[in-house]
Amino acid sequence: MSDALVSVNPATLEELGRTPVTTVDELDRLAQAADAASRAWRDDHDRRRRLLAACSFTIMDHQQELAGLLAAEQGKSLAEASGEVWISARYFAHLARLDRPHAVDAPPAPGRTARLVHRPYGVVAAVVPWNFPVFLLAAKAAPALAAGNAVLAKPAESVSLVVGRFVELLNRVLPEGVLSVVHGDAAVGQALVGHRLVRKVSFTGSTAVGRAIMRQAADTVTPVTLELGGNDPAILLDDADVATAAARLATSAYFNAGQMCVAPKRAYVPEQLVDEFCEAFAAAAGAMVVGDPTAPGVTMGPLHNAAQLDVVRTLLEKALADGAELVHGGGRGTDLPGHFLEPTLLRGCTDAMGVVADEQFGPVFPVVGYRDLDEVLAVVNGQEFGLGASVWGRDVGRATEVAGRVEAGSVWVNQHNALEVELPFGGVKGSGFGREGGLPGLEEFLQVTVLSVKETVA
Ligand code: NAP
Ligand code: MG
Repeated sequence: MSDALVSVNPATLEELGRTPVTTVDELDRLAQAADAASRAWRDDHDRRRRLLAACSFTIMDHQQELAGLLAAEQGKSLAEASGEVWISARYFAHLARLDRPHAVDAPPAPGRTARLVHRPYGVVAAVVPWNFPVFLLAAKAAPALAAGNAVLAKPAESVSLVVGRFVELLNRVLPEGVLSVVHGDAAVGQALVGHRLVRKVSFTGSTAVGRAIMRQAADTVTPVTLELGGNDPAILLDDADVATAAARLATSAYFNAGQMCVAPKRAYVPEQLVDEFCEAFAAAAGAMVVGDPTAPGVTMGPLHNAAQLDVVRTLLEKALADGAELVHGGGRGTDLPGHFLEPTLLRGCTDAMGVVADEQFGPVFPVVGYRDLDEVLAVVNGQEFGLGASVWGRDVGRATEVAGRVEAGSVWVNQHNALEVELPFGGVKGSGFGREGGLPGLEEFLQVTVLSVKETVA
């Protein structure tokens, strides 16, 4: 473990700044401070609401600054970065208003009264990846704090500057100790997850790291929420509005350069509609402007790091070698030295290709032609991931019926990745368990105690 994390602009490869790594002693001190702070925090519900609302305003007051830093350090366009900061503020505003289930009467029984009391855990760990570092931290910190916990956050090492600044700004509002950040690589993450004062772990990231965290948490019987990867299918029915579906899916597939767990990652299109679909999708891809994400007018930046670009390029090259046809893209799209790949569209893909079967996490979108819908559903439901999916058709009733047969945490009809902070979001199967958003998202950070009273003393 080196002493400082170096943040690099993924478009220009220039150094942006350095962040000291949190030592084991510092982690211990922060955990003790969080534990102490959580005791006053948990008891003052009205104050929490006020301060969470104030957090929302503070975030918006610094929207431009945070968006600029996010675009430079993560690589998404300024417009996307501003949107990420905005929805993070919305998360705090939403949680400031959401009433948690305080105490609920249990079913009556003769001679006793009982209540179910919802209590915070104390200190919770929020471990987040690099693709939406501000939003994904907000999606954990806002409900965890609203529930009365203190939070120790651990961002991916490559986005330490923006997350550090985000936490610093929130700490202008929050009482000392209830929200802190630890910086470092996987070793710091492990030290955090294993810390004796951490009572709950909320993790977003890859399935491999999710498994490692769950294994480690078993040692201390610490509950975990896991938001893992996805390989979302979009299924067009034979009556789909093809042009609309292609345009909406392209927007979603290339958002954040495709580095989004709930991006559509493959389309199943009736064979007779593939030409029309690819034409419309390629037009949308061609309208995107690739370049320095901090420059005005640029709509797609680079991938976040060299390893991710390598994964995506390898999947692309393998698919082409195995017979896929390049409809659009494939090049870098700019002379900048960073980790660039243009919005790319492939047709003639099959379920055997890695670009279809695996999570590509990048701007390469494969189209699979099909004849038999039942076969498509069997393939999709037989796979490891189950995060999101979408079904497209003019007969909304039929499309909704088909959507009901897809095994995923969110299934959308005639839209994809329509996330709302009021609705629970999460996966099934290899995509994880537990939910963020809405009341279920708040309940992830509460545990139930039964208070049962015998009414006769003697
Ligand atoms: P990652 O490698 O899984 O890392 C996520 C976070 O965990 C980082 O902060 C990482 O720190 C930390 N970490 C790594 N090993 C750890 C360990 N053994 N114990 C504790 N913490 C550990 O994910 P990423 O590369 O940042 O992001 C890309 C992946 O995340 C993709 O696979 C994507 O599908 C998934 N993702 C899922 C969702 C969702 O909601 N389902 C959302 C976004 C992303 P370092 O990076 O500093 O090592
Ligand atoms: Mg990582």
